[in-house]
Amino acid sequence: MKPSFVAGWADPRRINADLHCHSLMSDGTLSPTAVVDRAVAQGVEMLALTDHDNLAGIDEAAGRAGELGLPFVPGVEVSVTWGGETIHVVGLKVDPLDAVLCDGLARTRSGRDARAIEIGEQLAAAGIAGAYEGALRYVGNPALVSRTHFARFLVEQGICRDVSDVFTRYLIEGRPGYVPQRWAAMDEAVGWIRGAGGQAVLAHPGRYRLDAVERHAMISDFRDAGGVGIEVVSGSHTVAQYAEYARVAVEFGLLASRGSDFHGPGESHVELGQVPPLPDSVVPLWHDWELAA
Ligand code: AMP
Ligand code: MN
Ligand code: MN
Ligand code: MN
Repeated sequence: MKPSFVAGWADPRRINADLHCHSLMSDGTLSPTAVVDRAVAQGVEMLALTDHDNLAGIDEAAGRAGELGLPFVPGVEVSVTWGGETIHVVGLKVDPLDAVLCDGLARTRSGRDARAIEIGEQLAAAGIAGAYEGALRYVGNPALVSRTHFARFLVEQGICRDVSDVFTRYLIEGRPGYVPQRWAAMDEAVGWIRGAGGQAVLAHPGRYRLDAVERHAMISDFRDAGGVGIEVVSGSHTVAQYAEYARVAVEFGLLASRGSDFHGPGESHVELGQVPPLPDSVVPLWHDWELAA
């Protein structure tokens, strides 16, 4: 069956759209095919795969979604450095073959290997041997070594209880295994996404360590660069943050997105498709989409 998606649904808010998740092509634990299978099993009605800084899983996921009749949206989660803080910008409905986007993502990824070696060295200095090699065992895409892979190694070694525990004691600023990285600039990332025919969405805005003034400036910069959406209901948000970012969406005139940020069974606390619907006050990002496989 071919997926089809017609504009003019009675209430797009009621569609179980999951527009943020990961596969083995970045720091998820399932193959793109397995992510799609699981999404269908969980009742997802429209899915975007949004791996970090690469599009390697899109073909496979789109193919599987086509077989199962699941409307599928090609996506990517771009790492951005803004004011010294790492910000994530999701690109949705991007052309995965767009040369400028692919080249920009390749440059964004390029420092990851050297960074991973340095993370390994820092952990060794802190008494944890073999972390680089250990992290590599969890890597599904050699172009994409991430802190998450180190986190899995630290859990495997019994050094931390779970991945969340890792990110309170290691791999974060001021702790062993933190290597700052300069990612894409905000206007570059949004520009690549728009140039590839996509819509740029600010990912999990509640997760950044910014004060109110900085947050306002960051969201303004995102919008000025051409960003059109913001994640309101995210697996990385608390219930209070759903309401908070619904207000922010209205204040900034941004469309609202919804996604689990699923990384894998047993690791993510939020399952694919299992976040609440968007609040009534916002306009869903997909309100005017027409998709076909
Ligand atoms: P990297 O792109 O290598 O800096 O790794 C970033 C990834 O680490 C994110 O995409 C998350 O998957 C993971 N991560 C960061 N902070 C946390 C946290 N507090 N809890 C769980 N995972 C986290
Ligand atoms: Mn991740
Ligand atoms: Mn993210
Ligand atoms: Mn994510």
